[in-house]
This record gives sequence, C-alpha cells and structure tokens, in this order.
Amino acid sequence: MIMSLPQRTLLAVPITAADTVLARQQILSAQAARADILEFRLDLMADSDWSALLAETSLPVIATARPTDQGGEFAGSESQRLDLLKKVAQARPAFIDFEFPHFIGSAKAREFISSITCDSIDADKPGLIMSFHDFESVPSNLDDIVSQISDTPAAVVKIVCFAQSIQDNFSLFDFAHQASRPSIILAMGQAGQISRVLAAKLGTFLSFSCLSTAESSAPGQISVDRLRSLYRWDRISRSTAVYGVIGFPLGHSLSPAIHNAAFEDIGFDGLYLPFLIEPAYERFAAFMDSFLAREFLDLRGLSVTIPHKENALRYLQQHNAFIDPPAQRIGCVNTIVISPDGNLAGYNTDLDAALDALTAGAGISHADLAGRAVAVLGAGGVARALVAGLTAAGADVFIYNRTAERARSLAEEFGATAIDLAELPQTTARIIVNCTSLGMHPDTGASPFPCRCLSSDMIVFDTVYNPPRTRLLTQAVQAGAKTVNGTDMFINQAARQFSLWTNQPAPVHIMHQVLKDVLL
Ligand code: NAP
Repeated sequence: MIMSLPQRTLLAVPITAADTVLARQQILSAQAARADILEFRLDLMADSDWSALLAETSLPVIATARPTDQGGEFAGSESQRLDLLKKVAQARPAFIDFEFPHFIGSAKAREFISSITCDSIDADKPGLIMSFHDFESVPSNLDDIVSQISDTPAAVVKIVCFAQSIQDNFSLFDFAHQASRPSIILAMGQAGQISRVLAAKLGTFLSFSCLSTAESSAPGQISVDRLRSLYRWDRISRSTAVYGVIGFPLGHSLSPAIHNAAFEDIGFDGLYLPFLIEPAYERFAAFMDSFLAREFLDLRGLSVTIPHKENALRYLQQHNAFIDPPAQRIGCVNTIVISPDGNLAGYNTDLDAALDALTAGAGISHADLAGRAVAVLGAGGVARALVAGLTAAGADVFIYNRTAERARSLAEEFGATAIDLAELPQTTARIIVNCTSLGMHPDTGASPFPCRCLSSDMIVFDTVYNPPRTRLLTQAVQAGAKTVNGTDMFINQAARQFSLWTNQPAPVHIMHQVLKDVLL
C-alpha cells in the first residue's frame, strides 16, 4: 500500500498474535480503536498467514521481523530473515523496518534491503524504516548514531531507547525537534511514557500504542483508548501547551483525568501529563531546568504534589519568581505558572480550597471561623494548609497527631495549640477536621475520631476523598453532625490551578463528574 506523508502523528498498533485467528482479531480491534497504521511483528506472528492478513487489512502496515539480538524473537539465520523480508516486500506493505546495526554490519544486508525498499514514503516500493533500539538506556553516543542513520537510505528514521528516568527523555525530544525527515523517536519504560504522548506535540511520524498492556510490544506502551480518552490524542498538535503534575509516586493521581477533561470541556489547547520525579531537590531542579530550556515544548503550568511542594518553593525563590502570599505562609507551592516569555510564578491553592470547602459545606462564612475552636487531626501536608488557613481566619486551632513532636512544631509555627492525642475524646472543639490518612482507601474501616464522641452540634470535615464517604463521615451523619467531604477541597484546588493557567473559570461540574466516575 502506498501512503502519503501524514499531516499529523500516526497511532501505530503492533500485531503480535502468533496465529492467524488471533492476529485477525487484533487487526479488527485495532481498526475499531481507530489505529492509523499497524506493525506486523512477523517474528511474533510465526504461525500466522501474514500474507493473507496483509492483503485483507485496509490500514497501512509496517513489516518487522525483529531478530533476537535486537529484542525480537526471530530465531532463524540472517539469510532466512532476508528471504522472509523479500517475500514480504512482494506483498507491498507500506514499510519494512530494518535494524541499523544489521544494516551497517553487513554489505550484503545493505545492498539487499536497499534493493527491496525505498527512501521515500510515497513510492511504489515499501519505505525503509531504519530502526535503532537500546533496551537499557539512552546511549551517550546517540548524536553519532543519529548522524550515521541520517546517511542511510531511510524513508523514516526510528530511534527507540529505554528511559531510566524522566530526564532521559529530553535528548530524544531534541532529536525529534530537529529531525529533518520523518522520524519515530520514543523512550521505553514508565519514565518514557510521556514521549509516547508528546510525539504528537513534536509532530514525529508515529507513536506506538497497544490494544492492551498484554498485547504491547515494548515496555511503557499506552493503550490507544487511554491515549484518546485520557490524553486527548486527537487534539494534540504542535501548538498545544503542556501542563502536568510533578510528584512521587503518582500512580494514584487523578489530576491528569480531571484537567484533561476540563481542557476538553472548554476547548482549550492543552495537554496535562504525569511527571514522576524522584524525591530530591536536585531531581526536581534538573527536570525544571531541562523542560524550561526547551521552549519548543511549551511548558505552561504544573501542579506540584508530595514530595516536591517545598522544592517548588525553593526553586522559584532561586529564580526570583513571584510567590503568592498563601504559598509563602504555608511554605510550599502546589501550582506553577509559566508565561509564554518564560516568567515563573508560584501559588498555593490548597489553603483557600480547604477553607472554602469547609465553610461552604458547613454553611458558614470565613468570618464565622474567628474565635471558633477547631480540632485538626494530623500534622502532615494537608494539616499544614488547614492550620495556616484556619489560624489566619482567627480560629483557635488544636492539633492532635500520632507523632506529638510534629504537632508541636506545626502549632508553634502558626500560633496553634498541640494537644496529646490521648486527650482527643475530651476535645471541646465543635469543628473537627481530619487531615490524617486514616479512612483512606484501601483501609476504609479506619477512623481517626472516636464514634461515641461525635455529636449533632459538630461540623466534621474529612479531607480524605477516596472514598468520598469515609467511616468517619458515615458515623458523623448518624450522630446528626454536619459533614463535609474531601472532594470539594480537591476540586477547589484543581479549579484554582485551572483558572491560573487558562484565565478562564474551571468547568467544576466536569471535574466533579470525572472524580465521581474514577472513585465509584
Ligand atoms: P502526610 O503529609 O503524609 O500526613 C499524614 C498524616 O496522617 C500525618 O499526620 C500522620 O501522622 C497521619 N497518619 C498516617 N497514618 C496514621 C495512622 N495509622 N494513625 C494515625 N495517624 C496517621 O499526608 P497529607 O498530604 O497531609 O495527606 C493526608 C490525607 O489527606 C491523605 O491521606 C488524603 O486522603 C488527604 N488529602 C486530601 C486532599 C484533598 O484535596 N481533599 C489532598 C491531599 C490529601 P504522623 O505525623 O504521626 O506520621
């Protein structure tokens, strides 16, 4: 099949099933998932009638017979492999993939592959995809490799390396940005997943996805469905602005689902990704430096979560960025805004988000908090935002925490009072705020507050949002107390971030719907 140069990055799906029946099912599923191009992994489709399948499919096909020394399973000799590729070429797939080390390593292979393929996409012979793989790292001599591959008669250059850390993506992004001919430039592994999405932003030739993780052909491939539904693949173009969440770990993060859905709802040209950065300031700073140095990536905003909120503040201070008063008061930044001319600003949306959730849910105003006794359970990051906000609003804050020393130091910093956890049942506070992780999924049977001490004159705010109705809140409802769950706080802080980035009100109803769909 002859194809013309695509206007946008193609989504490729590998066909990996060993026999014809299963391979046909994969092809039909890939077509139904709106894949743009298929890769027939002939080394894995050993018992299939690949020529019949090739004739049947309406999608363009890349034919690959990957040998074992290149991460594949073609176990025959090199001359058997070349024989297979000769037969394949006669069946006219759109492309034949051939490995660069084998191409430069043998004059016979060079001559043969050059005779059955062609160096352009729209000729009547299969185009040559000249591929280089490194399954362990991004090699330090990648510059040389790229320049040597550029001298081969390739229609498409393919460079796929393993990213040990997210930092390894950046040199690959540079090659993608500078590429003068159609290129496939991807990083394997979890740390490389962003490259599979950003391929569309960088305008490379294609990105490999999969039907499901079980049917993937390389580590880190993202399913076609996920690329489309979570990352809005079809909306990403060279003009798309990039956003994301920095944290470690991030497996649980609901932020990509919420922000991408909100971008979609208002028709905003943005993409929101997870950025997993190891917990050290140096890692955080290196990531920021690398991203910001590459203007072509259009990084415009970041959410920052555990354990990098203090690192974000430090980085922004070192870069003389604007820091908003709540971030200064709490001592951490959870939102970064990057202007088109590269100016940085840091915000903390947790403080207002928490106070607004509490007061709106309880039907009181911020001013009503003045002079009220509030028991804050916990002394971690969320407690810090609540204590900073509540003390600023004039509430009398009592902190109860498993680790007493942590409660004492938090209390000292914000003018609150630390109380021994054993005295919690005697608390006189009528506003109870849970900032511990007790009750959070999967340990949903736990509660931080004795059930017998709950009463109908209380307001109980549980910042845990997964599940939205915790054991504490169920018991508080039974006691006749007013209850506030953690989802409003979560959505409030995300909505503020969204507005800071887009200058538009957040579609809060969409954010709530996404949270509900994910949590239920
Ligand atoms: P964190 O900094 O790790 O603090 C966790 C707190 O929970 C600490 O005070 C810790 O006490 C206490 N804790 C943990 N396990 C405990 C146990 N078995 N018994 C008694 N106390 C225990 O976490 P964080 O960022 O503050 O988050 C706390 C919770 O807030 C999360 O679990 C999450 O559910 C919720 N959250 C809500 C939102 C929202 O927007 N609604 C956002 C983020 C987090 P020690 O000091 O003794 O370790």
